[in-house]
Amino acid sequence: MRKKIVAGNWKMNTLLPEGEFLVKQLEFLTKEMETDVEIIVCPPFTHLATIGKLIEDNGIKISMGAQNCADQESGAYTGEVSVKMLKDLSCKYVILGHSERREYYGETSEKLCKKINLVINEGMVPIFCVGERLEERESGRHFEVVSEQIQEVLYKLRGVELDKVVVAYEPVWAIGTGRTATSDQAEEMHAYIRRVIASKFGEHADLVPILYGGSCKPSNAVEIFSKENVDGGLIGGASLVAQDFIGIVKSF
Ligand code: PEP
Repeated sequence: MRKKIVAGNWKMNTLLPEGEFLVKQLEFLTKEMETDVEIIVCPPFTHLATIGKLIEDNGIKISMGAQNCADQESGAYTGEVSVKMLKDLSCKYVILGHSERREYYGETSEKLCKKINLVINEGMVPIFCVGERLEERESGRHFEVVSEQIQEVLYKLRGVELDKVVVAYEPVWAIGTGRTATSDQAEEMHAYIRRVIASKFGEHADLVPILYGGSCKPSNAVEIFSKENVDGGLIGGASLVAQDFIGIVKSF
């Protein structure tokens, strides 16, 4: 059975006290909650040490991830944050290949290959994002684009490594726009992603959680999460509001 995951990508939002408050609210809302969903928060780098400690000291049932990492192990790379540094702060996950990083920071598949290997080698789990732009969907190239993104990075891994990867399908036109993919569009692409992975890795593909991301809210999550190949969500805006984020978790 595949793991169910709801991960919050806080992006470049919150000052540290606000981030701490958000986690305390999540603690309150999840205290009595019985769930088989793994809840993950991905705060900005500057918050990770404090929030990691807050989670650990209070036994909060939430995992922590980072939003990016360096493509080198260590050394003279000013401004970068290594995978080992993230692991040291109790990060379990790293978001890789988010469309905002691909678009604004020149994240290439070549760089992503290096990053994904570093993350897996440290025993951490990459949340590898794929997704097409609006013009690519409108011109009917969405399957081709997503397939290429997968082939350029995930196909370079070995089957056993793939078992440690989470994939997030995030259509760029749905991120932060309030426009969500329909549950049928999501399911169609998730099933396709699984087939693309299976054509290289066979049955390993069945174990890969595939999350949907793009304007997911409590009001649309139930419908989207009801689909066979949707194993959870990567949540941006709604992860900054504790009630909404946990509302999405409860949508399973
Ligand atoms: C994201 O950026 O990963 C995302 C899904 O954002 P939002 O939920 O705000 O669309």
